[in-house]
Amino acid sequence: MAETMMASPVSPTIPFDQDGAHHGHLKVPHSHDGSAYGAVMVPVAVIKNGEGPTVLLTGGNHGDEYQGPLAMLRFISSVNIADVTGRIIVVPTMNQPAFAAGTRTSPIDKGNLNRSFPGRPNGTITEKIADYMARYMLPMADLVMDMHDGGKTLEFVPMACTHVLDDKDAEANGWQYAVAFKAPFTCKLVEIDTIGMWDTHVEESGTPFLTTELGGTGTTRPDWAEIAFRGVKNVLRQAGVLAGEVEDAPTQFLDIPLEGAYITSESDGLIEWVVALGDPITKGQVIARVHDPVHLGTQPRDYHATMDGILAMRHFPGIVRLGDAIAMQGAIS
Ligand SMILES: [Zn+2]
Repeated sequence: MAETMMASPVSPTIPFDQDGAHHGHLKVPHSHDGSAYGAVMVPVAVIKNGEGPTVLLTGGNHGDEYQGPLAMLRFISSVNIADVTGRIIVVPTMNQPAFAAGTRTSPIDKGNLNRSFPGRPNGTITEKIADYMARYMLPMADLVMDMHDGGKTLEFVPMACTHVLDDKDAEANGWQYAVAFKAPFTCKLVEIDTIGMWDTHVEESGTPFLTTELGGTGTTRPDWAEIAFRGVKNVLRQAGVLAGEVEDAPTQFLDIPLEGAYITSESDGLIEWVVALGDPITKGQVIARVHDPVHLGTQPRDYHATMDGILAMRHFPGIVRLGDAIAMQGAIS
């Protein structure tokens, strides 16, 4: 299949194999009304110094998530090349059109990049980005870290995560980097919806992978920014491409089981939080109520914790809709 697939129309404006710090773009041809021979320009930095492993850092997989891009921008503008051994490739805003618009998906084609892998070289703009990342960028990498947060609609406790994998050696390999990140929480996730995801694609290639869910709410915050920036440097140190020791910080281990961790709203309404994000929860207790603001006098619908642990993620806007994920629970392990 791969041999017969057409070449990507995407072209990088900088070399990947030369020593030094190179800053440029992945040029994705995009002919449109405003620019007949135009291109979507996805920013990329390559920081290379001699021989060593390659770490690929990606952010902006969803365009309204900012802690990853911010940490990567800070790292790119502050790294001392003499501290690097090997190669660090950084794509802080992979779905650049979505990032530019401040939206989860691309305004050009409505593409959710993290549901578009492995992509298509002759597909939509989003599919072309996915295809280039999958077939050209991933094969260069010995480790991939893709940074997420809750975007505009969710808020997570700060955590670095790997996934439960069938291959336990691969699971352990990724886990060491999640632990080295030193987020306040370190977790193993069983994902609910793996089709088309960058992480699934990377993991299926056998390349070690970790992800983060660091806050959210469609903005940045000083505490999240420091956790993210320290985490980026720690992962690079653990991988041996950045000089220095992993900077220690306290972390708690979380289990996010597939069954029962997520709570889904069964109505539209105004949410009343009974428990704050990060607070301990006990199975059976009310964690949130959804009030009907239209039919006055009706009783709110209660949502109960289904496990002991903490409230690890919450729906951020005050208005919830039928089918929204209200909460994700995590068990302290
Ligand atoms: Zn995301």
